[in-house]
Order: sequence, then C-alpha cells, then structure tokens
Amino acid sequence: MSYNLVWFKRDLRLHDHAPLWQACRHGPVQCLYIIEPSLWAAADAASQHYLFLRESLLDLDLALRKRGGGLRVEIGAAVDVLELLWRQAPFAALYSHQETGNWLSFQRDLAVQRWCQMRRLTWHEYPQFGVVRRLRDRDLWQAEWEKLMAANCLEAPTAGQWLQPELPMTLPEPQTLGLTQPDPPQRQQGGRRQGIETLRDFLFERSRAYRGGISSPLSAPTACSRLSPYLAFGCLSLREVVQASRRQIAALPQGDPRRAGLTAFVSRLYWHCHFIQKLESEPELEFRNMHRGYDGLREADWNPHHFQALIDGRTGWPLVDACVAMLKQTGWLNFRMRAMLVSVASYPLWLHWQPVGHWLARQFLDYEPGIHWSQMQMQAGTTGINATRVYNPIKQARDHDPHGHFVRHWLPAMRRVPQAWLFEPWRMPARLQQQCGVKVGVDIAEPPVDLEIATRQAKARLYAVRGKAEVKAAKAAIVAKHGSRQRPAPRRKARSASGWIQTELEF
Ligand SMILES: Cc1cc2nc3c(=O)[nH]c(=O)nc-3n(C[C@H](O)[C@H](O)[C@H](O)COP(=O)(O)OP(=O)(O)OC[C@H]3O[C@@H](n4cnc5c(N)ncnc54)[C@H](O)[C@@H]3O)c2cc1C
Repeated sequence: MSYNLVWFKRDLRLHDHAPLWQACRHGPVQCLYIIEPSLWAAADAASQHYLFLRESLLDLDLALRKRGGGLRVEIGAAVDVLELLWRQAPFAALYSHQETGNWLSFQRDLAVQRWCQMRRLTWHEYPQFGVVRRLRDRDLWQAEWEKLMAANCLEAPTAGQWLQPELPMTLPEPQTLGLTQPDPPQRQQGGRRQGIETLRDFLFERSRAYRGGISSPLSAPTACSRLSPYLAFGCLSLREVVQASRRQIAALPQGDPRRAGLTAFVSRLYWHCHFIQKLESEPELEFRNMHRGYDGLREADWNPHHFQALIDGRTGWPLVDACVAMLKQTGWLNFRMRAMLVSVASYPLWLHWQPVGHWLARQFLDYEPGIHWSQMQMQAGTTGINATRVYNPIKQARDHDPHGHFVRHWLPAMRRVPQAWLFEPWRMPARLQQQCGVKVGVDIAEPPVDLEIATRQAKARLYAVRGKAEVKAAKAAIVAKHGSRQRPAPRRKARSASGWIQTELEF
C-alpha cells in the first residue's frame, strides 16, 4: 500500500498545517521528523534548541497518537533517510512546508529536490509564513502577506489513515549530537500546549503592558508576548496568532490598553515575515554583507579579547553584562537589549557581526535565521540602507533601568555598588571600592575600551565607507530587493513603542 510522507521541519503542530492537511486528503499518511546531525553540529545550534525541539516533538507525537497515528523519528542526512524509507516502502509523494533556514538547510533542501527528481517523486511544498519564494517584486509583498493572513486556518485533520511507526519514539540525548552547552535553567518549554497557553495569557492579560513595556528589560519579560520560540519552531502558526490577535482587538472596547498593545504586536508579526523574506531572497546574508561596499570594514580587526569579554559578560558596562547573564539563564532578551548588545559588539568593540551572530544564535532560544541575520547586519550597519543606530549602554541603563533593579538582579556584585556609581562603577575610587567590598577588575570588570572614544572612531570608519560615491550608488538596488514598501507613519507615531519602527520606515 502506497502512502504520503509528511516531513515535519520547523512546523511542529497539526493545526493549520497545509502539507498534513493535503496529504491526508490523498491517502494514508506517515509523519516523519528527521534529526540531522550536520545541522546540529553547526555554529548556530545549541542544546537549548534541541531540548525545546524534543519537548515539541513529544507533544506532537502525543497529538498524533490521540488520532491513531504517531511520529516516526529518524536520525541521519535527509536524503539518506528518505532513501531508506523509500526502499522500505515507496511512498507516493513528499509533503512539507517551505523552509527559509540557514545555509545548510538550504543546501539540504536542494539535495532533497534532486533526490525527488531522481526518484520521479513530487515534493509538495507549502508556504507557512508570509514569505514568497522566487519573489520578483517587493511592491506586491504586503498585499500577499495580508492575503495569506486572512485565509482560513486549517483544522487539525481528524479523519485520516495514519501509518503507525513500528517503534516507539526515542530521541537521543543532546550530547550524542555533540551539543554540550548548558541548558538555560529558566528557558521556555517547548510544545504546542505551552505555546497556546502563552498566547492566551498574552491576548487576555499581558498585552495591556505591551505598549510602553517592551523596551525596558525589567518590564519586557512579561510585557512582550514571549511567542518567539513557538513561532520559530512552528508550534503555533503565524496566521493563527495574527487572526486570534485581530479577533481580540475587535472584541475589546475602545480605550482598552490591550487594543493598542495587540495592534503594535500584529505589526511585529508583519516584520517577522518581512525580515525572513530578506534571507529567502538572498541566503548569502548569513555570511556576506548585504551591501558589498562594506566588505573589509571589520574583517581584519578581529579582537579575541573583546569577544571574550562580551561572551563572558565581562565588558564592565553593567547593562551589557546583565543582559548576557540574563540570556544565559533564560535564553531570551527583548528587542532593544538585543540591538544594544550587537551595537556594543559592532561599534566600541569593533567586532565583525558573523561570529557575534553565531554566539547570539546559540543564546537565543527563538533563533530564526531570517530575522536573526537580517537584524545582525542591520544593527552592525552593513545593510547600507538603514540609519546607523548606535546604542550607548550607559544611556540605555539611565533610560530603562534608572534605579539599577535589573543590573542588581543579574549581577550580584552590583548590589554592593552605591547608587551614585551605578552606571559607571569602574570609576569608583579605590577607597570606596574597599569600603563597599567591590574590586574593579575582579568583582566587576573594567571596560576594555573607552566607550566614547571607541564609539567615535567606529562611527568615523563606518561613515567613511558610507560616504563613498560607489557605496551610495549601490544602495538603490538593495532597496529595490529588500526594502520595505510600507508608507512612513507620521513621525510622532514612528517614534513610539520601541523606536525601531522608525529605522525600518526609512527604507
Ligand atoms: C540582533 C537581533 C537578533 C534577533 N534575532 C531574532 C531571532 O533569531 N528570532 C526571533 O524571533 N527574533 C529575533 N529578533 C527580534 C526580536 O528581538 C524578537 O523577535 C523578540 O525579542 C522576541 O520576543 P517576543 O516574541 O516576546 O516579541 P514580541 O515583541 O511579542 O513580538 C512578537 C513576534 O514578532 C516578531 N518580531 C518581533 N520583533 C521583531 C523584529 N524586530 N524583527 C522581526 N520580527 C520581530 C517575532 O516573531 C516575535 O515573536 C532579533 C533582534 C535583534 C536585534
């Protein structure tokens, strides 16, 4: 008996799952997940991603079993696994979502495509985000996004002929795949059920604090939706989140703060796809400057001591080090603090965005290559089309953690530092250090550079490139390919919320 093979990738749900829905309409279905060691050995993979994945797979398997099916999990290169399954029992067609992943998964998909051609097999691929494959024109992109988000969500199939896996699902330990990073003790748990709970809690309660609450690292952990890992692993479909938010906006009375919060939130869901589209249209963005005129800007100046200080949380700038400490504990940070970390790495520390991006990809539970690499380049100033945004970590601390609650929570030594020295503790006189029991260079790091001077020099180097005639001339083609076509909002509005919208609207 022939069957259809549904290959689950970063879409770990049954609900609003077009490949599963379509495969079920056309005969018996086998559900497959492939654990690919080469992807887990890559520089952007970490234990926390794998553990979140495992939790999500267990949830998915349970949901399938309730319907009489189950998830078959295989370990190996995708083409080898497909060939193995084919030899055991040829399947009629392969079904999956399109994936805009990293360079490795892109190459893997090309290999699977060749294998399908060789086996004369149809591979039905469906979009799962508002990301358009082989996009010709950005002008129509927004309308496409709206169309996709307005279409009906698909129910999880109830009636289907499911092929049961012969063996119960066994999932290897992270170490077997060479994953040895510590699991952040406070990271979010995987699975659709956790995703739904997080969504409900946000729609009905936490969204009231979204506007005004997402920039400070103190309020952001509860004011932000915290849906990013569930979207990145596909435990929730983007469309169901957009539709649920819009329903809630319509149901809430005028003036309810949740309305404004959810409206701003939906605009982020639009940016989610806008950024992923960039990597879809140009997969090389993972390792090549979006604007080639910036090639050579930082490559030759790699400073391992600066990088080490950053990843150890020992830059001496309290807000930066506290953010690194929080990341290690939770696997999450809000947008503004992510942007500040990259800004500090790219300007005063003058580090190239790629190794920093690999380190951050491992720290972020919600690592989504399309958003991540586009944002890395945007914050590092190598897109050539965005305004240069340099976040001063001392100013950010004054604005968003003026009383030091955040830094004192994450950096215990800061609890002994008097308020007057909160923002620049390395300047404390030796006598005072002795009095309060904090030694600069031991308990608290000393910044590796003078922030003001190093930032000024970095900007000058960037502007020298930006000012070149040929660099200016090459901008138009990048705007045509990657630029947003959203009409600029009135200036006052654009400055609200986190402030980053303004930058994007400058395209
Ligand atoms: C250097 C850098 C790297 C980043 N890497 C990632 C990443 O790997 N994965 C990821 O999901 N987000 C990334 N972001 C964007 C943003 O910081 C996170 O989406 C957000 O902090 C996740 O928390 P949340 O779901 O509570 O956000 P919310 O504010 O509740 O936003 C809801 C959703 O909208 C999308 N979104 C929000 N902000 C942005 C944005 N600026 N650009 C694109 N989409 C956005 C995300 O899918 C997010 O889950 C990055 C930002 C920066 C500056």
